[in-house]
Amino acid sequence: MAVKTKAKSSVMCMCIKDGREYPSDRFYEHKNLEIFPKGYVPYCKDCCNDMLQYYLKKTGTIEASMWYVCALLDIPFIKRVFEKTQELNRDTDKFIETYYNLLWGSKSMKKALDTWESFSDSDVGFEEISGVTKTDEGIKAQIEKLELDW
Ligand SMILES: [Zn+2]
Repeated sequence: MAVKTKAKSSVMCMCIKDGREYPSDRFYEHKNLEIFPKGYVPYCKDCCNDMLQYYLKKTGTIEASMWYVCALLDIPFIKRVFEKTQELNRDTDKFIETYYNLLWGSKSMKKALDTWESFSDSDVGFEEISGVTKTDEGIKAQIEKLELDW
């Protein structure tokens, strides 16, 4: 008997990092349809991983790297979701995927009043992230300035 398989509706999306179009299953979804009307982030999954690797090299910590990626994708950085991801996943290639599944695929991570829609819903601020280099840079700049003034 021929069973007609219902094709999952797939739209083509543009990755703004590599400038190419791919089917939507190669993109992470996004909840904020006001900002992302197609319902996907504007970077393909591969590019999202590249970004995470880039920040890992730059900052040396997965927490800071994931925080930067969340900012770029405009998805919330939620401390307990991050910690759970770290617990489940030591492989950085799957880190974003695991984080995503916990953030938007799992009801158990959420409390009744939580709204996790965009980066502005993050529960950790810049200054609380270990490995974010801005402070170091700032201190370095201050020291240099002191040396010049002296
Ligand atoms: Zn891409």
